[in-house]
Amino acid sequence: DTIGGNLARTAAAHPDRDALIDRGLGLRYTYREFDAEVDRVASGLLDLGVVKGDRVGIWSPNRAEWVLVQYATARIGAVLVNINPAYRTHELRYVLGQAGVSVLVSAPAFKTSDYAGMIEEVRGDCPDLRDVVLLESPAWDALLAAGERNGRGPVAEVEATLSPDDPINIQYTSGTTGFPKGATLSHHNILNNGFSVGELLGYTEIDRIALPVPFYHCFGMVMGNLAATSHGACMVIPGPGFEPATALDAVQAEKCTSLYGVPAMFIAELALPDFDDYDLSTLRTGIMAGSPCPVEVMRQVIDRMGMAEVSICYGMTETSPVSTQTRRDDSLERRVSTVGRVGPHLEVKVIDPATGVTVPRGTPGELCTRGYSVMLGYWNEPDKTAEVIDRGRWMHTGDLAVMDEDGYVGITGRIKDMVIRGGENIYPREIEEVLYTHPDLLDAQVIGVPDQKYGEELMAWVRMREGAEPLTPETLRAFCQGRIAHFKIPRYVHVVDEFPMTVTGKVRKVQMREESLRLLD
Ligand code: ATP
Ligand code: MG
Repeated sequence: DTIGGNLARTAAAHPDRDALIDRGLGLRYTYREFDAEVDRVASGLLDLGVVKGDRVGIWSPNRAEWVLVQYATARIGAVLVNINPAYRTHELRYVLGQAGVSVLVSAPAFKTSDYAGMIEEVRGDCPDLRDVVLLESPAWDALLAAGERNGRGPVAEVEATLSPDDPINIQYTSGTTGFPKGATLSHHNILNNGFSVGELLGYTEIDRIALPVPFYHCFGMVMGNLAATSHGACMVIPGPGFEPATALDAVQAEKCTSLYGVPAMFIAELALPDFDDYDLSTLRTGIMAGSPCPVEVMRQVIDRMGMAEVSICYGMTETSPVSTQTRRDDSLERRVSTVGRVGPHLEVKVIDPATGVTVPRGTPGELCTRGYSVMLGYWNEPDKTAEVIDRGRWMHTGDLAVMDEDGYVGITGRIKDMVIRGGENIYPREIEEVLYTHPDLLDAQVIGVPDQKYGEELMAWVRMREGAEPLTPETLRAFCQGRIAHFKIPRYVHVVDEFPMTVTGKVRKVQMREESLRLLD
């Protein structure tokens, strides 16, 4: 199936149910209206001269038009290029050039980002860029008017020529470990993944999903939007950026049954001083994903937010994204402490990265994924693709994992984050889990720093709760003693207000390591 065809089927089955609510802009669409509006935008893009395979960039924080452009491009076989709303000119220039974007749809400005101004700055360097369509401008109105005039006829003509295996999306990875890479994905990749995620969460047309996670990332546009539209559920956009209070307002006002977030978002929501005043009683489920999900935070999401069926998903942009997911009928223990089992029609294995041989259950190694979800490749970078997808079509994730006898997977960290101290392999994740149980700590991250004697030493970066005494190496040691082995107790402590983050809400340990070098100097 194609994404456009799938949406049309949902709209025919549930025409009068809510499809999309944008609380920031105050817009609401039923499925009938949403499907028609997608056609109008698709027809307008064709009128601009977009043909199948052309790259259409979208550069904007979350808003209704983002979703319209997502489905409109898929419907005419154009390749949507998601551009990180936090990018600045040099990154924008790189992505526009790398992907060969010919039409760019963008928000005019948001907070400190003057999108229109930045586009003008790079335009001269991007020979492929033919048209820029700013939302809220006459160009966008003209696109809609042309779409209205030409109707759905031209769209239907192109739709008949599409194949589910066509590339329709280039998503750049989060850039947590270095420069982002453009994963090229097909209808087949992401529609099936979104459908499967929704299926395992038990979505139906009565579900309403609060989406404070960025659409630019697969968490928003696949696990959110495609999971919703393939089951007739409603997408609720709390607002353009993430604000904990706005997210909970949306849940309460729109009676959402599901809420998404990376761990840092749930931590911020739970820490709101008036958290207990929100009525979140409609929440049934949701997803925590994107980075290690602390057991303690999962427990609070279940107990204090009432998300009894909340699921943890693990995946990466290159695999559409989800590879493993916890299920509603898994034991509570497994639902808070593992990333679940492999998804339907997919395979996972854990190998010794040095030899490529599968390790015994219970032994840590590199996680590999195979199946329908593996990307077509990195856009125009065959060498980089060959580094991660082997000849057997296995995607090598770069993540360390342990699989138990029953197939439940635990992520122990990224290969690049593992610390080797005096010959011992240490997984920072294990120490972070212990620190999360400290009552004065809001958040904790552990990294390795160079050390003359041991090769590497451990440093904990911590965020304190308001009013708490700052942690010191001594108080940290006292807390950890008896909870973890002595060689895993961090030697250094660094108290901060915020961690360096990617816009997808992930902690940038690379940057923390760089800054730590300066601290120790
Ligand atoms: P880059 O590849 O550019 O360095 P990135 O890997 O962070 O950035 P994404 O594709 O957004 O980019 O993220 C995928 C990664 O996120 C996974 O490889 C894994 O390390 C981490 N991750 C995702 N979900 C989970 C989870 N549930 N638990 C632990 N880690 C997770
Ligand atoms: Mg990655």
